[in-house]
Amino acid sequence: MSVAPFVEVSAARKEYRSTGGKILVFDRLNFSMPQAAFIALMGPSGSGKSTLLHAVGGLERLDGGSIRVGGRQIAGESEAHLSRWRAETIGFIFQFYNLMPMLNAAGNIELPLLLLPLGPKERRRRVEAAAELVGISHRLRHRPREMSGGEQQRVAIARAIVSDPPLLLCDEPTGDLDRATSTEVLEILRTLCRDLRKTILMVTHDPSAAEFADRIFTLDKGRLDTAGMAA
Ligand code: ADP
Ligand code: MG
Repeated sequence: MSVAPFVEVSAARKEYRSTGGKILVFDRLNFSMPQAAFIALMGPSGSGKSTLLHAVGGLERLDGGSIRVGGRQIAGESEAHLSRWRAETIGFIFQFYNLMPMLNAAGNIELPLLLLPLGPKERRRRVEAAAELVGISHRLRHRPREMSGGEQQRVAIARAIVSDPPLLLCDEPTGDLDRATSTEVLEILRTLCRDLRKTILMVTHDPSAAEFADRIFTLDKGRLDTAGMAA
C-alpha cells in the first residue's frame, strides 16, 4: 500500500509577464512530499524557489498544472476560499521575520488566531503553548525591536504554528542569522517535524542548513532535481 502524498505538484508552470517580456520561471515541474517530510529547496538566486514556495502556499497562482495539499486541489480556488484554506493549513516563516513592530511578541503570535472563532482565554492558552514550544516564553511582553534576530525568528515560528497548520513554508528562515542561532532555529524546525508531524518545505541557499532536512531538492534553470539526500 502506498501512502498518498501530502503535497503533490504536477506539471507546474509559472511565467511572469513584464514590460521586459515574458520570463518562464519553471514548466512541467513535479514533486511530492509525504506528511511529516522536511525538505530543503536549494538553487541559485532567481531560479524560482520563492515563486514555487508561494505557489504551494496559494499566494501565487500557477499558469499551468496543479497543486494538491492534503488531497485538495488549490490551483482553481477563489481568493476567499484560498485565504480561509491558508489560515487553516499553512504557516509561513520568512527571512526577515515579518513581525508587526507595534505589537509585542504575544500580540504577534496571536495574529493568526484572530481569524478563528476563539475567545481571548483560548487564544492566550494557545499563544503560551506555541511560545513554550519554541522557547520564547520569557520574551512575550517584548516588541520586535527589543529582541535579537534569533528571538524574533522564534516569535515568527510560534506565530506560524499557533493555529496548528500541518504545512510550514519557510523562505530562507536562517538567512539573517549567525551560525549558532541558525542551528537553534533549524533544530526547532526539525523538532516540529519529528514530534508534531509538521510537513516542512524550506528554501535555503546554505548547504549546512539544508543538512537538517531529510531530502534536498534543487531548482535550477526551470528544472527540479529531487534526488538529493541530506547527510
Ligand atoms: P529565488 O527565490 O529562487 O531567488 P524568485 O522565485 O524570487 O527566485 O524569482 C524567480 C524569477 O522570477 C526571477 O527571474 C525573478 O526576477 C522573477 N520574478 C519573481 N517575482 C516576479 C514578479 N512579481 N514579476 C516579475 N518577475 C518576477
Ligand atoms: Mg527567493
